[in-house]
Amino acid sequence: MSDFQRYSRQVILREVGVNGQALLADSAVLIVGLGGLGAVAAQYLAAAGVGQLLVADRDRVETSNLQRQILYRQGDVGQLKTEAARAQLQALNPQIRIDHYDGQSWREAVALADVVLDCTDNFPARFAINAACVRARRPLVSGAAIRFEGQLAVFDLRRGGPCYRCLYPDQGDTAETCEEAGILGPVVGTVGALQALAALKLMLGLDAQAGRLQTWDALRMQWRSHKMAADPECPVCGEPHV
Ligand SMILES: [Zn+2]
Repeated sequence: MSDFQRYSRQVILREVGVNGQALLADSAVLIVGLGGLGAVAAQYLAAAGVGQLLVADRDRVETSNLQRQILYRQGDVGQLKTEAARAQLQALNPQIRIDHYDGQSWREAVALADVVLDCTDNFPARFAINAACVRARRPLVSGAAIRFEGQLAVFDLRRGGPCYRCLYPDQGDTAETCEEAGILGPVVGTVGALQALAALKLMLGLDAQAGRLQTWDALRMQWRSHKMAADPECPVCGEPHV
């Protein structure tokens, strides 16, 4: 099958074209967290022909993941998510390269990536990913979902604006988890798909709405868009005090 056939439905878009497809093939995306968000985002990015996916997670596939983490199959239960994900993504698109990292070594991959997706579910990981992205000047696409609430935010300090830490000045580990609060598959899957969309826009040079926080009430089907402000006192991206 030729590349043109595989990607024809997106190559005919004026915003993509042959040049855009070549840009995607030359790009690398780091996905930290292969749960409900990352498992969906990874599939769309692999299918779109992003040349290299760097995936990071330390967990193994559990039966309770299968309700929403639709990258995995029953037979994957017990396997490392990175191994199971690589097999499935490579089966979907053998033309791309997939490298995997464990729970810690993703830090090495930040500088290798053109875009970083935060698909984790806890504040310590989110703060660490944000700090690494600020340091390496890499755009960050942050997603979160719990119960019937979703949120999406793009941070791109190359264009100024806030970082993730500006948004959450308190570094408490108070995030609720889906294990405690519950989640429906399509809610987290929608946010994961939108993270993939934002990543594609960043790679294609399209406006990814950096500096805006999008929140979604999935029960009432209402989206809100909020402008985020940079915090000059931010310990991560603020001017260092002398
Ligand atoms: Zn900041």
